[in-house]
Amino acid sequence: MCGVFGITNHKDAANLTYLGLYALQHRGQESAGIATIASGQMYSEREMGHVADVFTQERLSRLPGYSAIGHVRYSTTGGSMLCNAQPIVALTSKGPVALAHNGNLVNGSDLRQQLEAEGAIFNSMSDTEAIVHLIARSRERDVERALIEALGQCRGAYSAIVLTPGRIFAARDTWGFRPLVLGRLGQSLVVSSETCAFDLIGADCIREVRPGEVVALEADGLRQVHQFPSERQARCIFEHVYFARPDSEIFGNNVAETRERFGAQLAREHPVDADVVIPVPDSGVFAAIGYARESKIPFEFGLVRNHYVGRTFIEPKQTIRNFGVKVKLNPVRKIIEGKRVVLIDDSIVRGTTSKKIVRMLKQFGAKEVHMRISSPPTTGSCYYGIDTPQRRDLIAGSQSVEDIRQFIEADSLGYLSEEGMLNAVRNGDDPHQLYCTACFSGKYPVVREETQATTEVGTE
Ligand code: AMP
Repeated sequence: MCGVFGITNHKDAANLTYLGLYALQHRGQESAGIATIASGQMYSEREMGHVADVFTQERLSRLPGYSAIGHVRYSTTGGSMLCNAQPIVALTSKGPVALAHNGNLVNGSDLRQQLEAEGAIFNSMSDTEAIVHLIARSRERDVERALIEALGQCRGAYSAIVLTPGRIFAARDTWGFRPLVLGRLGQSLVVSSETCAFDLIGADCIREVRPGEVVALEADGLRQVHQFPSERQARCIFEHVYFARPDSEIFGNNVAETRERFGAQLAREHPVDADVVIPVPDSGVFAAIGYARESKIPFEFGLVRNHYVGRTFIEPKQTIRNFGVKVKLNPVRKIIEGKRVVLIDDSIVRGTTSKKIVRMLKQFGAKEVHMRISSPPTTGSCYYGIDTPQRRDLIAGSQSVEDIRQFIEADSLGYLSEEGMLNAVRNGDDPHQLYCTACFSGKYPVVREETQATTEVGTE
C-alpha cells in the first residue's frame, strides 16, 4: 500500500504536494518523497519517516517548479529502506522521469530478472524501478509512447503517476485494483490516491482514472493518452474495509458510509443481546456506528486511542507490533464495567490484536465480550499491494471461527459474510464483477508469475 499525489501548473507545487501527502499519510508511513521539475531539470527529496518529519521548510525550498509528484510508502515488495523510497527519478534519453507507484506487479521479479540479464542496474529492491527501466530502455523515442509500451508489459496492480517535463501522466492497471482520482484546483490539475487529499487543498474531484487508462495532466487540460482493454475490474474491497480514509470517496462510494453499511449488515447477520457497542478505534468506528444503529444497542467510545502512536500493524517489526497494542488503546472502565460488550473491528489478521483487546476489556470488568468483524475471515495473502501476511500467519488461514473465538477469548465471534460485504458496495452494477475479494475468498483475479510466487509473496 502506498499513497501518490501530483499537481501541475501551480507556483506552490511542492508545498501542495506536501499537504496532499499529509492527507495520505495513512497509506504509508515508512518513507515520503517529492519530485519537482523546473526548466527541464528534476529535483527530488526522499527520506525515511513521516511526511511532517521528512519535509522541513528548508527541504521544500529545494523543490522548485510548477509541477510535482509525491509518494508515501508502505512496503510490500522490497524492504523498508531509503533506496526503496519513491518517487524514483531517472535521467533517460527521453528526458528526466520521476515515477511514484501504488500497487504491486505480479510479474515484478520476472521483469527485473529479464532487465538485469540485459544489463540493467537496479538501485532499489522495489518492483517500481522495473517500470522506470522499461521506460528508459524502450525503443520509442517519445516518453509518452515509451510509458505505454512499459505499462503494456506490467501485470498486476499499479496506480502510477509519472512526472516529465511538460506533463504528469497518471495510469491505472486494467483491473483497477488501487484507487486513483483526478481533480482540479483553479488552473491546476491534480491526481491523488484518495479524494481526502483534494479536500485538504481545496481541489474539486473530476473523476477516477479509469481502469486501463493513461491520462496526461497538461497546461491546457486533461488528455486521454491510451486505454488498455479492461476485461474485468477487480477493485480492492479491502480499501473499503480498512485501508482508505473514511472521508474519501473510493470507487464511487464514500468509505465511512460503506463501513456503516458493513456494520448494519453485520448486526443483521450476527445479532447478540448486549448493553453497549464499542469500536476498536479507529478502524472499527464506522462499522460500530452502523451496528449500533441497526441493533439499537447504545454506541460508546469504550476504548480510547493514543493518537501519538502510529498504526501499529504498519510497522514491519513484530516487536513493535506487540508493544503497540497496549500503548495505543486503553479501556474506559466506567463504560465497560459490568457490561455485555459488542466489540467491533474491521478485520482479524494474526489475531494478536483482538486477543489483547478482549483481555483488556475483561480486566476492566466487561461481563461478556462479543467480537464482531466487519469483513469475512482473512484467509489469503494479497499480491496486489496490501501487506497481508502469508497464509500460514493468518489465523483464519488454518483455523475455524470457533477456534479463533477460543484463541481471542471472546464469548462469541461473528464475521460479515462475503455476500453481505459486497452488497454494501453495490451502486448499480453487480459487485461480483467489480471487486477483488481474494484475501477473503481466495479468488485471485490475476495469476502470480512463478518466480514472484516463490521469492516474494509466499504460498497460498
Ligand atoms: P492482528 O489480527 O493482530 O494481526 O491485527 C489486526 C488489525 O490490524 C486489524 O484489526 C486491522 O485494523 C489492522 N490491519 C488489518 N490488515 C492490515 C494491513 N494490511 N495493514 C495494516 N493494518 C492492518
